[in-house]
Amino acid sequence: SEKAITRALLSVSDKAGLAELGAALAARGVELVSTGGTAKALRDAGLAVKDVSELTGFPEMMDGRVKTLHPTVHGGLLALRDNPEHVAAMEAHGIGAIDLVVVNLYPFEATVAKGAARADVIENIDIGGPSMVRSAAKNHGFVTILTDPADYATLVEEMDANGGATSHAFRTRMAGKAYARTAAYDSAIASWFAFSPAASAEPTMFPDTLPIALKRADTLRYGENPHQAAAIYVPQIVGARGVPQAVQLQGKELSYNNLNDADAALELAAEFAGQSPAVVIVKHANPCGVAQSGSLLEAWEAALACDSVSAFGGIVAVNTELDAATAEAISAIFTEVVIAPSVSAEAREIFAKKKNLRLLECGALPNPRRGGFAMKTIAGGMLIQSRDAGAVSLDDLKVVTKRAPTDQELKDCLFAWTVARHVKSNAIVYAKDGATAGIGAGQMNRRDSARIAAIKAKEAAETHGWSAPRTVGSAVASDAFFPFADGLISAAEAGATAVIQPGGSIRDDEVIAAADAAGLAMVFTGMRHFRH
Ligand code: 5GP
Repeated sequence: SEKAITRALLSVSDKAGLAELGAALAARGVELVSTGGTAKALRDAGLAVKDVSELTGFPEMMDGRVKTLHPTVHGGLLALRDNPEHVAAMEAHGIGAIDLVVVNLYPFEATVAKGAARADVIENIDIGGPSMVRSAAKNHGFVTILTDPADYATLVEEMDANGGATSHAFRTRMAGKAYARTAAYDSAIASWFAFSPAASAEPTMFPDTLPIALKRADTLRYGENPHQAAAIYVPQIVGARGVPQAVQLQGKELSYNNLNDADAALELAAEFAGQSPAVVIVKHANPCGVAQSGSLLEAWEAALACDSVSAFGGIVAVNTELDAATAEAISAIFTEVVIAPSVSAEAREIFAKKKNLRLLECGALPNPRRGGFAMKTIAGGMLIQSRDAGAVSLDDLKVVTKRAPTDQELKDCLFAWTVARHVKSNAIVYAKDGATAGIGAGQMNRRDSARIAAIKAKEAAETHGWSAPRTVGSAVASDAFFPFADGLISAAEAGATAVIQPGGSIRDDEVIAAADAAGLAMVFTGMRHFRH
């Protein structure tokens, strides 16, 4: 049977629950050994504590850099109790067994998060703590390691159920948790060295080994499909902003697909931060309607009109406070998720009638031009790239046709271009008067994307009883160059009068000639936005 815990070493930065744990241990006859601040907290709670310096015969020194790093401590943690040589060594050197270690580490992550000076950050790299955690966890056959105050109560239950001892299963579980904690801790330190301008003069974008410190924010019901398991992790950095940081005001639990789609919608809505009201409707991570207008309600109506069939079960993001009138209009169709920087009290009341609708408030929109990384796993590895934060301004545009775009065409070109970068390649986006008129996404050739977008626009015209599809007189954006004239000719046939595209094909001349022949105005951006 397991041996009861008789001696515990407690050394914690986060003193939450410490006094209660210390009292529970003392009441069960456990001797308490502690480092400076922890010993003081326990004594203040009226408990008898032995100082670790008494054990080691050394004072805590060098600003606490050296407190527990001593064979009396580590021998007491690492000795195999059933190994006669280990036991003899303990006796020969006056090392007493330590059965329980309770440690949580210097708050390195929080120190970085609050923007502390370099010296302060360095001082908050815990050395002795992780050493004890790793020693105790290695010897979990005999020693219990706790690194999280959330486990204190379970420890006491374990002891009471096992005559003062813990079960092997509990010790194993806590050991795994302990190594996950020290691994995450070292990742956070390595990330700081790799990426923080405060840490090194030349932060590297791609270090030899990638330190990733991510914390699980939630487990999800399932992944993309019900037979896939899933969870969401968030980076441990200040100012991270996006769907995971948004507050859910109501509705069903967010699914994996909801989170992915809400992200796509929010990233596109963020392109219009600080501009006139904009609405984005997303389905399967692609926008199916985007519009900007004088009011949010008008923007919603224009976005919905683009492809009301696809908008069913959509994910909606807006760039400004969500008002009652827009909430009423959105509520009229089945919508999975709505995300907004803020939601008015009246709008909340309106959504409250749709119990299942997931309503999220995200505060300030993420900066679409922020840096950072995009990652994708492939069999046997992982691809990492800097985010697509590139942008073109009016000055970058080069008119390549005989006719230059009118001001309105230019506005629609830029709007279509902004949407196109958020559409899976091959992307073709028609826009007119600040609203998408047809979106072709994810086709394996550009001409098909152009044709599909036009077909959708035609269907929208039929649905709404318009005399002509809204592609007539529209601007069309292509996320990458037209390799042949056929895609552009399709767009002209759909009624587009202006084109925005990167240019750079060896057949640019043919494409420009086709544009001139059709009387189109075309601008080159010099930058493409593949999105796969
Ligand atoms: P206390 O508040 O008890 O003075 O200090 C507790 C903290 O010291 C814990 O976070 C623990 O991980 C850390 N610690 C324990 N021993 C050592 C050591 O030898 N060196 C360093 N740098 N930290 C230690």
